[in-house]
Amino acid sequence: MTISKNDPIHTRPIELLQNLIRFDTTNPPGNEIDCVNYIHRLLTDAGVDTWIFAKDPNRPNLVARLPGQGTAPPLLLYGHVDVVTTEGQDWTHPPFGGEIHDGYIWGRGTLDMKSGAAMMLAAVLRAKASGLTPTGDVVLAILCDEEAGGVYGAMYMVDEHPDHFEGIKYALGEFGGASFYIAGTTFYPIQVVEKQICWMKGTIRGPGGHGSRPMRGGAMAKLGRVLQRLDKSRLPVHITPAARQMFEIVSSSLPLVPGFVLRQLLNPVLTDSVLNLMGEHKLNFEPLFHNTVNATIVKGGEKINVIPSTIVFEMDGRLLPGYTPDDMIAELSPILGDEVELEVILYDPGPSEPDMGLFNILADVLLEADPAGIALPMMLPAVTDARLFSRLGIQTYGFTPMKLPEDFKFFDLAHAADERLPVEVMDFGTNAVYSVLQRYVG
Ligand SMILES: [Zn+2]
Repeated sequence: MTISKNDPIHTRPIELLQNLIRFDTTNPPGNEIDCVNYIHRLLTDAGVDTWIFAKDPNRPNLVARLPGQGTAPPLLLYGHVDVVTTEGQDWTHPPFGGEIHDGYIWGRGTLDMKSGAAMMLAAVLRAKASGLTPTGDVVLAILCDEEAGGVYGAMYMVDEHPDHFEGIKYALGEFGGASFYIAGTTFYPIQVVEKQICWMKGTIRGPGGHGSRPMRGGAMAKLGRVLQRLDKSRLPVHITPAARQMFEIVSSSLPLVPGFVLRQLLNPVLTDSVLNLMGEHKLNFEPLFHNTVNATIVKGGEKINVIPSTIVFEMDGRLLPGYTPDDMIAELSPILGDEVELEVILYDPGPSEPDMGLFNILADVLLEADPAGIALPMMLPAVTDARLFSRLGIQTYGFTPMKLPEDFKFFDLAHAADERLPVEVMDFGTNAVYSVLQRYVG
């Protein structure tokens, strides 16, 4: 069957993604309005009920609802249409062109996450067109401002319009369902839990003075020592239930030797030694077993001829699910030493344990789409809007399915230059999301 320009847009998810890419929704400032209006028009033209909510008129959020049979709770699908900046990046093809070259759709948002939003939108439009009545209502939320914390997007919706999400237990969101390869085996990690933000500030003091007089052991020197210690240290190992579940499945799905090696990650005495052997996967796995800290901002000194008596540095700390800022301080203080006054400046709590009730349906859908693949519950080291919806008791599953080539590095390309997606992925993902709507039984 060939698809022509006259066929409805939900049968052409590639073109739908190209259209979304062409709206420059770089956040800040976002300006998601034209993109959201375009989606709004597609939904209203198809006869789907919609609502628009905006904290800032240029930054609307859209909610659409497809009625179900009412025998199951509503199922939420949500995606954000803002993207991160392309400034200072060297792109082979224009980042807002949505052009197709060499089998890829190129552009900002092809991975994070206009592709996912397009899959969800196409699946909902398809359900409407084919008269599908799932057991529960399907609620589609198209959000702004995820990339800058969700203040105008998910946070605003959860705080000000929770009634539209009443009764929802499960949601499909971002970061999950993209293929990932270990020792030749294909895995589809589905995000079920996230780490938590714990941002901190360290203050270091020392004698100030005139820049013409040599200063030894001042605040600058202390900062140097502190950053060196931070660079050489890891916080203690923790085996959370989510990591255990994830690596038990991975290790039992691999051939004997790599499976045995990976399983040792779950032995806290060996975790760090095994991580050091992991090559390219070390960076992916290390944050799943540790609370982590990166120093990201240093503020000290105003004038070139004045030795500063105070230096403040900020740290991006990330806590494992179930851990608190007190745990972070207890683990970090011995590394920083008593030269640093440590303070938590922002803690953004997330849920500690996932509700796995929808997981098997999603795993079945992926297995049907790719019989060689193994679905896997995953902890995301970063955060998404999932933490905000969790405040309403909603469990999010990262589910924007993508069958990607083995050498395709999703996390190297998201937010980076030349972000791109193999064209055939759009049909793969849209079909999988639609399949969930067909199978959803609450
Ligand atoms: Zn995203």
